[in-house]
Amino acid sequence: MYRFRVRLEDIAENRLTLRGQEARHLSKVLRLGPGEEVLAFDNSGLEYRARVEQVNQDEVVCVILAQYESGREPGLDVLLLQGLPKVDKMELIIQKTTELGVRSIIPLRTTRAVVQLEGKKAQDRVDRWQKIAAEAAKQCGRPKVPEIGQVADLAVAIRALPPGTMVLAAYEAEETQGLAEALKSWPGGPIALVIGPEGGFDSREVAFLTEQGALSVSLGPRILRTETAGMAALTMVLYHLGDLGKVGVRSQ
Ligand code: SAH
Repeated sequence: MYRFRVRLEDIAENRLTLRGQEARHLSKVLRLGPGEEVLAFDNSGLEYRARVEQVNQDEVVCVILAQYESGREPGLDVLLLQGLPKVDKMELIIQKTTELGVRSIIPLRTTRAVVQLEGKKAQDRVDRWQKIAAEAAKQCGRPKVPEIGQVADLAVAIRALPPGTMVLAAYEAEETQGLAEALKSWPGGPIALVIGPEGGFDSREVAFLTEQGALSVSLGPRILRTETAGMAALTMVLYHLGDLGKVGVRSQ
């Protein structure tokens, strides 16, 4: 069944209204009309089975047949602090980590990054990335769109994390602690994964991270590319803590 995003304010007692692009997609692209059943989801985690009632110029009114918890959001806040990679890689990282279940992504300025983004250019990129996250969320059925933060210096981003966040800094030269082991001391609450850019972190950044209470962790025996490292670390965390690797959501 086709899925559409609906805004919270467009949901009334027993009807919901799709607007703008969602409405056009339904009527013009998919050519669905009255009587068809569709799925809609809002960003509060609820999903609706609905029947198209009326197709107007720029809106589609549907009758709600059933409403239920989507069950597709991870119950866990995992943030990705990603050292800025080359442009196309960042897009891939955003798309894939959204599918996997990241809560938010903060692009980091770091010493060894090949790409430096400032001012208007940085803002435009963040806007574009936010759209990519919204698209990916829709495609994979997540009700919540991960938030893409402003491009930030490593130190600023670390200090801005919510209190109680467990910070795991992925460091390929870490010899004593693996990610799996570090997760055994997870106290509950958000987890931030810090991933270096193509060139990795320099020793001062690693020292800063540990001073700030981050745990330096290995992701395994091989050196992963930056775009692989975030996806792999996120998958490991969500698997270890019981989100990924479980049965999916049954259709209602
Ligand atoms: N500068 C390094 C590799 C950087 S890999 C080199 O060229 O040798 C990019 C980032 O991915 C790293 O900063 C780290 O955060 C993460 N990473 C890659 N492989 C890893 C591993 N095996 N363990 C922990 N982190 C890893």
